[in-house]
Amino acid sequence: MSISYATFDAAKTAARLFDDVAAFSADTAGVSRPAFSPTETQTLQYLENYARGQGLCVNYDAGKNAVFSLPEDADANKFILVGSHVDSVPNGGNYDGLAGVVAGLLCLARAKNEGIGFAKPVKVIALRAEESAWFGPCYIASKALLGQLADSELSAVHQGDGRNLGAHMSEIGINMNRVRQHKPLMDPDNIERYIELHIEQGPLLIEKNLPAAVVSGIRGNIRYKKIRCVGEAGHSGAVPRAYRKDPVLAMADLLTRLDESWLAILQKGEDLVLTSGMVSTDPAKHALTRIPDQVDFSLDFRSQSADALEAMRDLLRDEIRSVERERGVKFELDPELYTAPALCDEKMVDALSNSMAKVNLKPFSMPSGGGHDAAVFANAGIPSAMVFVRNRNGSHNPDEVMEIPDLIAGTNIIFEYLIEAAL
Ligand SMILES: [Zn+2]
Repeated sequence: MSISYATFDAAKTAARLFDDVAAFSADTAGVSRPAFSPTETQTLQYLENYARGQGLCVNYDAGKNAVFSLPEDADANKFILVGSHVDSVPNGGNYDGLAGVVAGLLCLARAKNEGIGFAKPVKVIALRAEESAWFGPCYIASKALLGQLADSELSAVHQGDGRNLGAHMSEIGINMNRVRQHKPLMDPDNIERYIELHIEQGPLLIEKNLPAAVVSGIRGNIRYKKIRCVGEAGHSGAVPRAYRKDPVLAMADLLTRLDESWLAILQKGEDLVLTSGMVSTDPAKHALTRIPDQVDFSLDFRSQSADALEAMRDLLRDEIRSVERERGVKFELDPELYTAPALCDEKMVDALSNSMAKVNLKPFSMPSGGGHDAAVFANAGIPSAMVFVRNRNGSHNPDEVMEIPDLIAGTNIIFEYLIEAAL
């Protein structure tokens, strides 16, 4: 049912949209909106109902993402695209992704309610499948839109049901022929600009006491979902050190070497972060008194510099060879997942900074540590930019806290840009 506002109350609308989506995607803790799941589809349909109630147009693109616009812009061939993703990690927070989609919808609803026109046609996209937690690859929907989804990514299997990504995409009705031919589902020439609002995933805006920022660039990453180190099992009391091929110590040795190189790279003034977030011996076999025969771990390097990422890839190979020689173990690496670092468009960063000043915010820009769909658009040659909104407790967990007034501040920056939009 539609609700009409005498004057458009963006804060009240945002709170209602977040609450409603959280209610149907609630999990044991936080929310779970898996990539290409019925819950993700339900989220798009819910937003569609809201948008139609506001007199906005809604279409689904060939990747089954929802695209919203003012009625007069529905058939526009060239447009500014504003968007983010609606999926979440398992037991995630409600705002990572959804905040950017809600911000875009608020811009459209405000324009419609207040009779304000945009300088250029605007479309708002609610993307699916950005999070890597479900299949391994990240930015799946935006890569598919721009013809960049690799064959190896299409065969990545879902963490829950073991079926591959291609099967899941086909199941929700995506015609996979173009995707498999790496042809774009949306003509990149039609997208004049891409803008994404996202919650900040680090603590900088909290520390600076600022509600929002313009993003200067996005870190790329090299990831190995699983690296297996294979050694030799043995009794923890009976095998002397010289005879051991202990994969856990070999892994620890490798990670320590990488950590030392990380520090050296930082001291040279380069940007880099490194994480091994999943580490496990085989629970079916491991024991307090057993030298394990293997250990699995993940590895995630991120940097704003493609050179720094390549240097880490080479270093990893070298150190692996050296640890294998010294400790009598073998490392087996899953295929590497690579996302290039992305620069935000300088003109857009400047224009958005001017918009910040116009809506009485202190202009501030910062790099993005996390990756976002905006990186895919930027790397496809589409001028792209992002706005960050202050958020407490990081993201990818149920405790993320974004205050609605901060979201409205971030949304106002984009709205101001869209009505000025000096291209
Ligand atoms: Zn996100």
